[in-house]
Amino acid sequence: MNSITVLGSGTSTGIPMLGCKCDVCKSQDVKNKRLRSSILLQIDEVKILVDTTPDLRTQFLNNDIDDIDAVIITHDHADHLHGIDDLRPLCFEHPLSIYTSKNCEKDIKTRFPYMFKEKHPDAGSIPVISLETVELGKSFDIKGVSFEFFLLPHGPFTTLGFVQGGFAYLIDCSDIPPSTLQLLKEKNLELLIIDCVQRPPHKTHLNVDKAFNFIREISPKQAGLIHMGHGLEHEKLAKEAKDNFDFPVFPLYDKLKLNYR
Ligand SMILES: [Zn+2]
Ligand SMILES: [Zn+2]
Repeated sequence: MNSITVLGSGTSTGIPMLGCKCDVCKSQDVKNKRLRSSILLQIDEVKILVDTTPDLRTQFLNNDIDDIDAVIITHDHADHLHGIDDLRPLCFEHPLSIYTSKNCEKDIKTRFPYMFKEKHPDAGSIPVISLETVELGKSFDIKGVSFEFFLLPHGPFTTLGFVQGGFAYLIDCSDIPPSTLQLLKEKNLELLIIDCVQRPPHKTHLNVDKAFNFIREISPKQAGLIHMGHGLEHEKLAKEAKDNFDFPVFPLYDKLKLNYR
């Protein structure tokens, strides 16, 4: 059995959003407190982090994670990338590889050049970190774990989605192209995690209606909603999802663990 830990389920601002006094931001329900979206995959003994959010350190502390084997970065937006520096203590002892798309690799190196430069021998603790490009549209192995990666439109940007076993992760996308939708249908997914940012339509993300429609089309055994903004209250959205489907569909929340094969 493989597992997923939800390290963060919120949109780019995190919930509560600084300065906001809305009911969701002021809610005492821990399920409405959302760090930036990220998950940890555990396949047998292999732990793979998906995205390095600005909340990375807190997320690792909250979930007692003290080591990982690899990292996948879906795209270079700040809420998915800017915690990258906090990987340092995880690669003092052993090298760590970060996997991403070709487009993204260049931007990560431009934004964090010091992380990938040769280090001065007297620089103190030297993290060893490398950046690798994944191959798209075919099976690609990370630490012996087989993935299938594809690009998804994220408004004018792209983001990396993937299938691993019976699980698919579709974060920060505004659409799912027909060929990818077909692939996802054929996988008979056990678990789908899908972007669902807000109720009104959004230029770069799936909103509730679009996410629900894709879940209906893909028809996994269960589906979790992620990257939620403060327009979406946990209990209300949970009820709405329950009323709309005859299989489990639910908003994710931080620290939730799910299993799949
Ligand atoms: Zn995002
Ligand atoms: Zn994004």
